[in-house]
Parts: sequence; C-alpha cells; structure tokens
Amino acid sequence: SVAVVLFTSDLRLHDNPVLRAALKEADEIVPLFVRDDAVHRAGFDAPNRLAFLADCLAALDAGLRHRGGLLIVRRGGAAAAARRVAEETGAASVHVAAGVSRYAARREERIREALAGTGCELRVHDAVVTALAPGRVVPTGGKDHFAVFTPYFRRWEAEGVRGTLTAPRTVRVPDGVASDPLPDRDTVKNLSPGLARGGEDEGRKLVTSWLNGPMADYETGHDDLAGDATSRLSPHLHFGTVSAAELVHRAREKGGPGGEAFVRQLAWRDFHHQVLADRPDASWSDYRPRHDRWRSDADEIDAWKSGLTGYPLVDAAMRQLAHEGWMHNRGRMLAASFLTKTLYVDWRVGARHFLDLLVDGDVANNQLNWQWVAGTGTDTRPNRVLNPVIQGKRFDPRGDYVRRWVPELAELEGAAIHEPWKLQGLDRAGLDYPDPVVDLAEARSRFERARGLD
Ligand code: FAD
Repeated sequence: SVAVVLFTSDLRLHDNPVLRAALKEADEIVPLFVRDDAVHRAGFDAPNRLAFLADCLAALDAGLRHRGGLLIVRRGGAAAAARRVAEETGAASVHVAAGVSRYAARREERIREALAGTGCELRVHDAVVTALAPGRVVPTGGKDHFAVFTPYFRRWEAEGVRGTLTAPRTVRVPDGVASDPLPDRDTVKNLSPGLARGGEDEGRKLVTSWLNGPMADYETGHDDLAGDATSRLSPHLHFGTVSAAELVHRAREKGGPGGEAFVRQLAWRDFHHQVLADRPDASWSDYRPRHDRWRSDADEIDAWKSGLTGYPLVDAAMRQLAHEGWMHNRGRMLAASFLTKTLYVDWRVGARHFLDLLVDGDVANNQLNWQWVAGTGTDTRPNRVLNPVIQGKRFDPRGDYVRRWVPELAELEGAAIHEPWKLQGLDRAGLDYPDPVVDLAEARSRFERARGLD
C-alpha cells in the first residue's frame, strides 16, 4: 500500500510523527512538498524565506535519498496536487501535520474535499509543528484558549510533551512519480546578505552546539543585544527542520537555569500558536479591538523601515533585520513599540514589513507578538511604552550593538552612542546621522491622550 506524506512546516526526518505514521501504515510513501500558489498570492513567500526553504527542501531530498527515497515537488494548489499524486500512486491515505493558521485550516478542508469519494483518506497529526498540540491544555471556565501566558505555562509544564521519534532508516517511494525541480536558492533575488542557511542537518548542528555551550548562559544573557547569545533556532522551528518537542526534551536533559529559561521561550511559541488556533482572525484583526486611531505618516514609516529614525537602538535593530533577515528579540520588541506606540502607527504596517524580511516570519509568532507589543493582544500591560534610550543603556550598555549596525556612530564612546543629539557644535554637525524623527516626550503624551490615559 501507498501513503502520501504532505510536508508543510515539518521539513525533517527526525521526530516527525507525520512521516512515522505514514511509514507504519504503508509499504511505500510519497514524500510530497507542494509549492502552493496560495502562499505566493498572499505574498508569504518573501525572498529570505524562499531561499531558506530551498535549503530545507534540498536537505530533505538528500536525507530521503540517503534512505532510498526522494522528495517529490509539485506546484499549484496543495489539495489538487495531493489528490493527483494520490490518484497516480493509488495511495490509501494522505498524512499532514495540523496547522494553526486560517490558511492551514483551509488547506486541510480543501484536501478533505478533494479526496472525498476517492477512497483515499486524510490523516491529520497533532503536536508536529508545536511541542504541545493547541487545545491540549484549555482553561477551566469554558474558554477555548489561554489569554495569559503564566497560567498557560503552568498547565503546559504539567501536561508534558510527547516522546520523540527517531528518523526512519529506509524509505521506499513508488517508481516513476513525476516531480518538478526543487527550488534553487541561487535563483532567489533580493536576499538579505547575511541570511542563514536552512536544512535539517544545519538545524541539528545548531541545536547540538547550542545545547552544549551557550544555552548555559541563556537566562542571564538572552537580553544582551551585543552578546547575541540566543539560539537563532527560530527559522528552523518555523520550517520544522528542528522539532519543538525534541528540543524541549533535549534542553531539559541539559537542565540548569539556562535550559529552563530556554524551554519557557519554547512554551511562548506554543502559547501564541494556541491563541491563533482558536482565534485565526487575530492574524490581521485586533485580538482585543481597541479602536485606535492610528497615525500614518509616510516619511516616519520610511525612516523606521530604513533604520533612519535618529534613535540609534531602533535603527540598529532595523538594519540588522535588513541585513540578516533576522532580529534579536529585544530589538523586535523595541522596534515594534517604537512604531506602534511612539509613532502610533498601526501594528499591521510593521507586521507586514517584518514578514517581508524575517526568515523566521511566522503568522502565529509575528502577528501575535506584534499585537502583544501594540497593546491589542495578550499583554497584560498594554500601555507600556519602551524608551529607546533607556532600553539602550540597559540592554546595550557599552553601545556595541549600535556600533555594529550603525557605523556612522561608531566613534561615539560607551552609552553616549544612544543619545547622539546631545553632541554639541561641530561634533554633531560632523555626524552623518539624522535628528530624531520625533520627540519622545511629545510622542508619549500623544500616546497617552490617544489611549485616554492622560
Ligand atoms: P531564542 O531566544 O533562542 O528562543 C528560542 C525559541 O523560542 C525561538 O526560536 C522561538 O521559536 C521561541 N520564542 C522565543 N521568544 C518568543 C516569543 N516572544 N514568542 C514566540 N516564540 C518565541 N518569532 C518567530 O519565530 N517568528 C516571527 O515572525 C517573530 N516575530 C516577532 C515579532 C515581534 C514584534 C516580536 C516582539 C517577536 C517576534 N518573534 C518572532 C519572537 C522572537 O523575537 C523570536 O522568536 C526570537 O527572537 C528568535 O530568536 P532565537 O531563535 O535566537 O530565540
């Protein structure tokens, strides 16, 4: 018998419940990836992610070939492609990971419809994309998801994460299944120059080196912008080249305060996914409608996007995003707070820009973190405003992060780099760096008035 494995956000052979279930059920499998037109139409195949995806698919194909199989790639709609492949091979089932977005839910629905009456069944598997399946822990009192992280985390810890699965030793694929060529990283234009490499091997290497070293200092170092001491596993988690469940187990085995703090961040990922699973509209609509009258000054938005706001830490973060397709979490929080609270621009403008560049750009994590910062989401302190100077002195006390990304300011010593406007006379005139795009005190009053806090 034959089973189709539709790979989506689980581009790995290790700890993949979808793959294992199909192999258990059938003698031969068709490992299928569909380059879905819908993803392209939604503008979700931004160059950085497309290039990373190309690496992931190449690695998946290599891993499958090593085990006697290969990856089949098709273009078009996921449902039509799955049905066609099932018909061509006489498959009895199509296996796929459960997703949390509206797009994933529709994809599932369409596949089910496409397979109706063919005798081929759709099997959807939980806890593949996240460590714990959304809906596995629900609050008492009739609500379908947790809106506050702390009680969620308590239940998440108590529930425990499923056991991990090894990679299969052999994979048999029916002969003669046609495949489109794999996407080629080298043909993708407009990549960020410092973009990371994708693929399961790359992800597993990163996990091992992370667990055996830097994770020990994660609790104390994760907010140190210049130290750059976070795992950088986010794109691998997004594409599923690294399994969240396996990562939880391996981090716990290592233990220590670093391991605990790291597992907590993985639970944040699950938290946002369980919110989105229950509230798919929160991808673009306010989770908690606030009726904000957002401002929209094109010059200010441009300054923010280009890293030219005149606030060094905001600019450093935005330039890191452009250069690497990735940004430190502390930078993301500040850049998002600056856009939505200081400039008072709609969070959707920022979320879209991030999705255009982030290699880990993810509907659940990006949209719900943006909402969290903007005060329309699950933050229990929706009116806090981050001050770029204070944040700079705290999380980049020597100014090295700014120095790395804003070379115009490299000559400024220590924390003075966070307030270049304080320079006098010719020193100021000699700087090729803009004046602040807005006065922080005025912006804060504007925000407080707008939110009725004055
Ligand atoms: P580490 O600190 O090593 O954390 C390990 C993992 O935990 C991360 O890879 C991630 O999967 C998860 N994690 C950590 N922090 C968070 C968080 N706040 N929410 C959810 N998961 C978290 N993360 C994305 O993966 N994709 C996004 O599109 C994304 N957009 C964001 C937008 C904004 C405005 C903000 C404030 C945060 C966003 N994040 C996003 C969350 C977080 O910034 C990144 O996951 C993290 O910076 C990735 O770096 P890392 O892998 O080194 O993280």
